[in-house]
Amino acid sequence: MAAFTHEHHLHLYGCLTAADVYVLGRDRWQARRQELQRYASRHAAICGVVPPYEQFWSPQGLELLQRYYEIDRALSFAQFQAKFDLLLALFPLRQDDLFIWQQVLTKHQQAGLRYAEYRVIYPSSLAAPHTYLRAVNALLARYEADSGGNFQPRLALSLARPPAQAQAQYRALRAMLDADPQGLQHITAIDLCGFEEDYPPSLYRQLFAAIQHDNHRRRQKLAILLHVGESFQNISLHSAVRRILQAHTCGVHRLGHAIALGLNVENLRGTVVQESRQERLAHLQWLLHAEGRELRDFGYHIAAPALQRELAQLQAGMPTPPCRYDDATRAELESLQTAALHWAKAQGLRIETCPTSNLRLGQVRALGFHPLHKFSQHHLSVTLSSDDPGIFASDLAQEAHFCRTALQIPASFMRQMEENQARLCSAKLC
Ligand SMILES: [Zn+2]
Repeated sequence: MAAFTHEHHLHLYGCLTAADVYVLGRDRWQARRQELQRYASRHAAICGVVPPYEQFWSPQGLELLQRYYEIDRALSFAQFQAKFDLLLALFPLRQDDLFIWQQVLTKHQQAGLRYAEYRVIYPSSLAAPHTYLRAVNALLARYEADSGGNFQPRLALSLARPPAQAQAQYRALRAMLDADPQGLQHITAIDLCGFEEDYPPSLYRQLFAAIQHDNHRRRQKLAILLHVGESFQNISLHSAVRRILQAHTCGVHRLGHAIALGLNVENLRGTVVQESRQERLAHLQWLLHAEGRELRDFGYHIAAPALQRELAQLQAGMPTPPCRYDDATRAELESLQTAALHWAKAQGLRIETCPTSNLRLGQVRALGFHPLHKFSQHHLSVTLSSDDPGIFASDLAQEAHFCRTALQIPASFMRQMEENQARLCSAKLC
């Protein structure tokens, strides 16, 4: 049976379990009352209940904290963020305080992980980001040395979603890497996470091109990671599928989640999505463009005259029609998704799947609708991860168990995923 020991999609704070938050927060929460009050108000506005955070650190508070912190049912991405806010309220980034790193690294080393790439927000809030990154790098190096090289922790920096800000942060990071390659050698990637729907991958074409350009000329290379196709509440599944393929052509090395590419479309039956005119225009233009037209080679029928007509109507100011998921749209949507899966296979797309996270945040209604089934059927290049294992009360071993038993993913595909992740960590890029 395959053993999964390499983690490529982890958020550092999300690795904290409810018990960790209880222990680490006990002496800290009183000094963070103002921030916790803001967390409680946001949580109430989005989830409809006020978390009684003042009781979280009472002698019997762990169970209560657990109830408000862990995710054991389907949630929207906004609800997930409202829960995650507890961590941001409690544990602000500090220049010289690496206690969260120590807690998580110790746990993962003891659990037998051999490779773990942690994503953390680019530390722009700190006065001296370089000093902080250097200290984290030194800590990772120490854990690696102490384990005799059997545990290799790495760092991926999650940049801000607005493209201009991401560009500025990347420039600052690259300058630091150039000036101090030795002190920052454990930095392996940049990532974009958070609410994705307002930020189609095409917005980052310039940034990704700059990273690729720098990668060709420098020894220290950075993989490009993007959360994409995970959230599609205000865009159609058509657009979410398109964005996944566009992320690949824009230069992304590893795609986080890509739920839309594999989710059984039956999962959406009865729902209606009203996407923006801009999004629909982008989709029509893409289908009529060379890149979208490639889907024809994989059996997707592109009725160019009808699309041209719709394009002209939208450009003339006609309202954007809502996307209703019913019998009429099902066949067409399935055909798009199947063509996209074939295209993804042919192009060698790399997907980081996080099964429990996808089940909850992808609002998967039945296990049979889970995206991993189609990834497996189409033999895509997939790695298995746990995303925010503390919040989802999971870990890599449990994710593998869930795939084998609940999803019944074939043993051959499980083996393939395990091989993919062991190979990835030794690759120079991605
Ligand atoms: Zn993630």
